[in-house]
Amino acid sequence: MSLLAPALLDELRAAVGDAGVSTDPADRDAVAHDLWPRALIRERGGERLPGPDAVVWPSTRGQVAAVCAACHRAEIPFTPFGAGTGVCGAAIPVRGGVVLDLKRLDRILDWDLETGWVRVEPGLLGSRLEDACRERGRTTGHHPSSLALSTVGGFVATRSAGQLSTRYGRIDDLVAGLEAVLPDGTEVSLRPEPAAGAGPDLRRLFLGSEGGFGVIVEVTLRLHPLPERRVDHAAVFGGFAEGIAAVRELLQAGLRPSLLRLYDLADTALQAAELGVGEGSGALLLASCEGRAAVAEAEAAELAAICAAHGASARDPAAVEAWYTRRDDIGFAQARYLPLAGAVLDTVELAAPWSRLAALHEAVRRRIGGRLIVLCHLSHGYPDGACLYFSFAGVAEEEAGAVPLHELLWEEVMAAAAETGASIAHHHGAGLARAPYMAAELGAGGVEVLRRLKAALDPGGVANPGKWGL
Ligand SMILES: Cc1cc2nc3c(=O)[nH]c(=O)nc-3n(C[C@H](O)[C@H](O)[C@H](O)COP(=O)(O)OP(=O)(O)OC[C@H]3O[C@@H](n4cnc5c(N)ncnc54)[C@H](O)[C@@H]3O)c2cc1C
Repeated sequence: MSLLAPALLDELRAAVGDAGVSTDPADRDAVAHDLWPRALIRERGGERLPGPDAVVWPSTRGQVAAVCAACHRAEIPFTPFGAGTGVCGAAIPVRGGVVLDLKRLDRILDWDLETGWVRVEPGLLGSRLEDACRERGRTTGHHPSSLALSTVGGFVATRSAGQLSTRYGRIDDLVAGLEAVLPDGTEVSLRPEPAAGAGPDLRRLFLGSEGGFGVIVEVTLRLHPLPERRVDHAAVFGGFAEGIAAVRELLQAGLRPSLLRLYDLADTALQAAELGVGEGSGALLLASCEGRAAVAEAEAAELAAICAAHGASARDPAAVEAWYTRRDDIGFAQARYLPLAGAVLDTVELAAPWSRLAALHEAVRRRIGGRLIVLCHLSHGYPDGACLYFSFAGVAEEEAGAVPLHELLWEEVMAAAAETGASIAHHHGAGLARAPYMAAELGAGGVEVLRRLKAALDPGGVANPGKWGL
C-alpha cells in the first residue's frame, strides 16, 4: 500500500507508463537499502528498513525530468538508485517517497574514438561498458572491485576509484562532461571538453553529489588505448614504513604504475598465503606498469630499482597475476560472513599526505586493534599522498552488541582521521555513514557552502534528503 497521493501516482504513471511504476512491497524492498554494513547488521537483527513508497523505472531523460518535477511539486522525496552497491547508505531512501531506479537508462550513446570519449547513460553497468570498450581496443581504466555490479551514474555520484587509479585516475579524472536533471526537473547540459576555464567547473558539482543535487542522466568518459604490455613486480619490504617510503619516492619521481598495492604486516600475512608468495613476513608490494611495451618495461625497471634501494627483496611476479585472477573476489567475503550472528565487518578508506600517512596507520590500529582484526593496504597513490584502505572484522559477544560495536568502529576510525588530519573518505562517498563527520571534514564554512548549494539547487529538499548531515 503506497502512502503517496493517488494524484502523484497517476502523474508518475503518465510520465513513465504503467509498467514503469510499482508500489509492490517486493519491488520496494529491493531498493530499500544499499550494502552499507550498518543497515545490513540492523536488518540481520530483525529491523525492517522502511523503504520507498513507490519505485519508478524511467527509460529516457525526459521521463527522469517529469518524475523529478512531479515529486518537487508534490514535495515528495526521491532517491536515485543505480545498482545499490554503495557501502555508506547513500541510496537508502530514509524519508520514503520515490526511488528512481535508473537501470533502464543503460545505453551506450556515442563513441568518439578519435578524441577518446564515450557517451553513456547512467544506469549502464561498469562491466558492460568495459566489454564494449575492449571490443574497440580501448579501456576507461576504471575497475572498482564492484565493476560487474555497479553503474556509471553510481561511480560519478560517489566519486569512485578503481583498482588502477594510480595510472588512469579516479572517476573524477575520467568525466569529460555530463548532463543532469535538477530536483525541480530542470535539465542541465555540461558538455564534454578536454579542458575548460570559464568560471567554476560545474561538472565537479555533480561528482560525489549522491543524488542530492538531482539525477545524472548522461556521462561522457575519457578512454585510453588498451595497454600493449603489462609488466608485473612483486617485492617484500622489511616493514610498512620502508614500503611507504619507496612508494612515495616512485610516485614523486613521476612513475605511474597501474596496480600499486602495499600491504601492512597483518595484511601481508594473509595475502602471502592467498597468493602463494614468500613466508608472510614484512610488507608485500604488488605492482604493474602498463602501456606501450618499451615504456612499461622501462617504468617497471625503475620501480624495481627504487624498491631495491629501500631494501625490498623481489618475489616471483606470478603473485601479481594470482592477485588479478581474484581481483574482485575479496570484497564479496562480506556477503559470506555478515549473515553470521554478531559478525561485524566493514572497510573504511581514508586519505592522507605522505607526512601523516604512517601516523594515520598507527592511530587506526591503536584505536581498533584488540577489539577487531585490522588489515590495511596502501593503494591509489598520488605524488602528495595516498589512500589507506582498512578492513575490519570481528564478532560481538551477542547479536545485540553488533550495532554498538559497528558504531564504535566508525567513531574510532573517524577519530583517528581527525587526530592525524586525514580525509575521512577516499572513494566510498559520504551517505549516512559519514554524515556525522562532515563538519570535521569540511569545516563550518564548507558545510555552509554545501547547505547553501543544496538549498539553491533543491529548494524543496526533495532530492535524496537526510544525507551529509544536512
Ligand atoms: C564488493 C564491493 C566492492 C566495491 N569496490 C569498490 C571499489 O573498488 N571502488 C569504489 O570506488 N567503490 C567500490 N565499491 C562501492 C560501490 O560499488 C561504489 O560506490 C559504486 O560507485 C556505487 O554504484 P551503484 O551504481 O551501485 O550506486 P548506488 O549504490 O545505487 O548509489 C550510490 C549513490 O549514488 C546515487 N546515484 C546513483 N546513480 C545516480 C545518478 N544517476 N544520479 C545521481 N545520483 C545517483 C544514489 O542516490 C546514492 O546516493 C564496492 C562495493 C562493493 C559491494
